[in-house]
Amino acid sequence: MIIGIDDTDSRQGMCTTYLGAVLIEELNVYGDIKELPILVRLNPTIPYKTRGNAAIAIQIDTKYPGRVIEQVISKIESLAEMQSEKTNPGVIFVQDEDYSRAAPELKRFFHNTVQHVMTIESAKNLISKLGLTAKGYKRERGLIGALAATGAMLDDKWDCTYEYLAYRKKSLWRLPRTVDEKSVYRSDLTCYPNTWDTIDRTNKVVVCVPKSPDPVLYGIRGKDAGTVKSAAEMIESETVDRSAVYRTNQGTDMHLINVFSIKDIEDMQSYVVKGTVKNTPYTIEGGHTIFSLGDSSGYYIDCAAYEPTKNFRYLIRSLMTGDNVTVYGSVKNQTLNIEKIRINSLVTKYETKNPVCPVCNKRMKSAGINQGFRCRKCKTKAYSSAKLEIDRELEPGIYEVPPSARRHLAKPLVRFESNDCKLFPSR
Ligand code: ATP
Repeated sequence: MIIGIDDTDSRQGMCTTYLGAVLIEELNVYGDIKELPILVRLNPTIPYKTRGNAAIAIQIDTKYPGRVIEQVISKIESLAEMQSEKTNPGVIFVQDEDYSRAAPELKRFFHNTVQHVMTIESAKNLISKLGLTAKGYKRERGLIGALAATGAMLDDKWDCTYEYLAYRKKSLWRLPRTVDEKSVYRSDLTCYPNTWDTIDRTNKVVVCVPKSPDPVLYGIRGKDAGTVKSAAEMIESETVDRSAVYRTNQGTDMHLINVFSIKDIEDMQSYVVKGTVKNTPYTIEGGHTIFSLGDSSGYYIDCAAYEPTKNFRYLIRSLMTGDNVTVYGSVKNQTLNIEKIRINSLVTKYETKNPVCPVCNKRMKSAGINQGFRCRKCKTKAYSSAKLEIDRELEPGIYEVPPSARRHLAKPLVRFESNDCKLFPSR
């Protein structure tokens, strides 16, 4: 049986992955947990999300489906943050005999939920069409993510990464976390590039330890289950109450839709789109840097490197009108939040300067209005200014925001195979 769960937490506490870790332990008495549990990140632009728009799925081989259903429902009812207005849990059960019949539509629902905006109605319609056992609470919005997570479990074709999640003792949940920073740096040094986003070295931020009042102590992301576990073993911290390794679509760019024209871009979806820089990037209050991207359709879209992207903004500020780029990111309020940028080609720009004296190599001075230039020392003369190519101090290639500003779904360059990935600034 596959169990999909979503929307159990609030900004004040809990985390759906924690509920999953508890269930994995408790459901063991009713059968064998098959495969690794799944943690899916869904459309990152959804306003209803608490933090990272996550949902989970667990697969169990059981002779007691009725007891499993009862246990899952009772756990959701005791752990979910039901008092929060924004918490609207949903749970789906897909029985073994329904797998092959339900798989095509559930897989499609999963991919659509990562890339598009879905309605509660569409989730309910699919549940009744497929005859699935489901339970929604309050507004029942969690049914969307829960359904998507079951689709992810039934689909073995998507690119995946892994995350080891360590959870805290309940008595500590709202208190500051105790994690030895040096041990986290050591773990990163040993395991990078097989683990990533543990540390943001440029900005000196420990990325793997959250600040929110939820049960997560830290999360280690990496390319396989064994590596994330060994990286976690190097970390010294307060007692880890329990842990779980999830297979996940984090770091895969699954949310991105390739579009050939800016005119096809819609709000609340994420894209890869190519175009030309249409103005000199400018910085607004709050430190966010923005430029306009245009293409042959005659349409434009504002692209933003927000303040948390720190040094990445320097790169964006050095773009010039006419540069050809491909941007990757989510669109909200008609603005694309840049996650990565590929600089395809840079325009050649010139500046005019006083000419250089051919004798002493020093720059000449003006000899007066309409009188050209003169070297004071050598007395040489020139009648026109020099046209110099501006040094762009920038190379074509693909650049990304730092780990501390990375979206869960964004694929880090360390996972790219192409050889034009640039570390800016270098790690
Ligand atoms: P949690 O840890 O509880 O999962 P979260 O940050 O992941 O927290 P949720 O609390 O799950 O956020 O809230 C997201 C809500 O948005 C869920 O109810 C989910 O079903 C719904 N949702 C997810 N993706 C979409 C989508 N593409 N379209 C519409 N609703 C969505």
